[in-house]
Amino acid sequence: MQGNYFDIGVNLTHESFNSDYRAVINDAILKNIKKICLTGTSIEDSKKCIEIANEFKKNLICTVGIHPHNACYFDESSNNKILELIKSPLVKAIGEAGLDFNRNFSSKEDQINCFINQIKIANDSNLPLFLHQRDAHDTFMECILKEKIKGKAIVHCFTGSINELYDYLDNNLFIGITGWVCDPKRGKKLESIIPEIPINKLLIETDSPYLLPKSLKVKNRRNEPSFLPVIFDKIANLRKEPRDELKHQIYENSVNFFNLSE
Ligand SMILES: [Zn+2]
Repeated sequence: MQGNYFDIGVNLTHESFNSDYRAVINDAILKNIKKICLTGTSIEDSKKCIEIANEFKKNLICTVGIHPHNACYFDESSNNKILELIKSPLVKAIGEAGLDFNRNFSSKEDQINCFINQIKIANDSNLPLFLHQRDAHDTFMECILKEKIKGKAIVHCFTGSINELYDYLDNNLFIGITGWVCDPKRGKKLESIIPEIPINKLLIETDSPYLLPKSLKVKNRRNEPSFLPVIFDKIANLRKEPRDELKHQIYENSVNFFNLSE
């Protein structure tokens, strides 16, 4: 079956890709992963994402932002640095931004402050938001309702409940699904929720090198963008639409989400 894929969330600056990221990208392109979005997690990391995207201008885009884990490094100079970096035409979203109360690498207060700040930047710069939320749904919603998001936003790596999904849809958010859904144990609950995601709100991602789909036997356990079709297949099996239509729509959703002209 032909048709293109768009991996909306890849951490290609992760050290596990240091020696072969070019080969990884080329392999993904060969497997019809036509577009890949690299997600920035700090100022430094975002800079690296832009550098890599520059090497593959036709296929790669990136985000610029500060992940909740790194919120403690957010300071007064961060805004200007972000504003400087988003001047690159390859930067198509602000993020990863959001809240992660699972591990609290940064204090809750710092995370909220950093998150709200990035919503403001996205609003001012007319860029979509690439959002991360883990174990922080209620506070996440409070932030979103307080600092209204003017443009588009996606909650990436959605693994939540049906009520959380409805909260996001009520606020016009897009939903990113990873290989979490391929996990026979952890993904069970998510399986039943997948059909409830409106087709025009659904996007897919590997979140490489994390979340390798459980069915894949890869020696180094590293996930790669070329494995995206495994996630698509799982989602397609859980939904009613014809596969071609679903594939095409997810790709279109992604292109439109990042405001790419094609
Ligand atoms: Zn994330």
